[in-house]
Amino acid sequence: MSYTASTVSEPEFQQAVHEIRSTLAPLFKQSPEYENAFKVLMIPERIITFRVAWEDDKGACQVNTGFRVQFSSVLGPYKGGLRLHPSVNLSILKFLGFEQIFKNALTGLHMGGGKGGSDFDPKGRSDNEIRRFCVSFMRELSRHIGADTDVPAGDIGVGGREVGFLFGAYKSFRNEFAGILTGKGFDFGGSKIRPEATGYGAVYYLEEMIKAASGEDFKGKKTLISGSGNVAQYAALKVIELGGVVLSLSDSKGALVSEGDEGLTSEFIEKVAELKLKGGYLKDLSAPSGFKYHEGARPWTLVKKVDVAIPSATQNEINGDEAKAMVAAGLRYIAEGANMPSTQEAIDVFEGERKKGSDKAVWYGPGKAANCGGVAVSGLEMAQNSARLQWSEEEVDAKLKNIMQTCFRTCYETGKEFSDSGALPSLVVGANVAGFLKVANAAKAQGDWF
Ligand code: NDP
Repeated sequence: MSYTASTVSEPEFQQAVHEIRSTLAPLFKQSPEYENAFKVLMIPERIITFRVAWEDDKGACQVNTGFRVQFSSVLGPYKGGLRLHPSVNLSILKFLGFEQIFKNALTGLHMGGGKGGSDFDPKGRSDNEIRRFCVSFMRELSRHIGADTDVPAGDIGVGGREVGFLFGAYKSFRNEFAGILTGKGFDFGGSKIRPEATGYGAVYYLEEMIKAASGEDFKGKKTLISGSGNVAQYAALKVIELGGVVLSLSDSKGALVSEGDEGLTSEFIEKVAELKLKGGYLKDLSAPSGFKYHEGARPWTLVKKVDVAIPSATQNEINGDEAKAMVAAGLRYIAEGANMPSTQEAIDVFEGERKKGSDKAVWYGPGKAANCGGVAVSGLEMAQNSARLQWSEEEVDAKLKNIMQTCFRTCYETGKEFSDSGALPSLVVGANVAGFLKVANAAKAQGDWF
């Protein structure tokens, strides 16, 4: 049986399939029938591709391609974000949708997996252009989504403003006020803590890793963060709140990195949030004292000492050499805020260090577990919409924390059962096996494979 992800070249999707498949080997050895399930589940239930023509501020016609990959509805309505970025293509959306299936399973909530977006570039576009793009995009997407069918959310390039425009467009096309998107404004059905959820959740997951490995907490932990968008900002704020030291942020133009022991302040992170809302870059801000801006660089190789890393920008942003540099600088814990930020070579470096089993072992928390907090609170937003009520910030935050702790425990226990040597169990094996088993067993019960 072959596991070629597609007959056409889809490098990111093939990479994601390989990453999951390789960690399922012990399960397939124990129960070979699950290989059949994998063969079925790696093909999306449906892919929708559509034209998005929209008018720019000069009255000219612009056109982009829109996509929605409805990957799996085994555990609930398709659920996963919309990405607006010029790099968007089917390979990237299939990789993200495939990961999303197992991530959503790990939240313990009833959500299937999907992903969508467009190669539209919001950078440099006015609010009016973004609104007109969102209306055109939703003109077609509105035929394919629904509160019990498919509930998209934000991702790169899609924040509260875009979700608002998309929601308004859906409402006018379909004449219904329904929970068809998450990440909405609080006044029209959004959930408290949804903007914070992915970043906070990754840090809650890390807290569990640190506690389980050493009994310590975040205080004084030197933390490298990449990205400076939604996930990076809230991860940084939570690390600062817990007493950790944030050594870096980055964006598509470069990285801002501490020269020594200085950490970023929450006031500076707020400035970054304002800047990013206007489409600016870190290089536009004057570097805080003790920090230096590195044009065109990523932060991983630029510090002498690091305890924790939270990659939170995009896929394949840590290569094997960068992983080795962090290990040499003392890295102990890495949890992925972004989706697939570590290349396979980087994962091999981290997992290789774990297997050495020393008390200095590196522990790797994969994105599908560590960043599931965002979609988990999206699931809580769906529950609130169905009940037509809203929970307080404290209630949602407590539920998020509980979901991240349970997710960590699931990865830990399953990792212990299925991973090889090492004092600490493999969380990537644990996450993949636990997520896959839940989906595969439900799919079998529904007659999808046999
Ligand atoms: P944002 O658009 O808010 O921020 C993305 C950040 O990554 C920006 O700093 C951006 O830089 C940087 N970036 C994007 N593409 C590249 C690139 N090719 N090279 C270098 N830097 C890049 O997105 P989010 O914070 O929402 O998403 C970040 C990651 O987290 C993604 O992988 C996403 O899939 C994942 N994720 C997000 C969730 C969410 O709830 N938002 C949930 C789970 C995962 P610049 O500002 O210069 O464009």
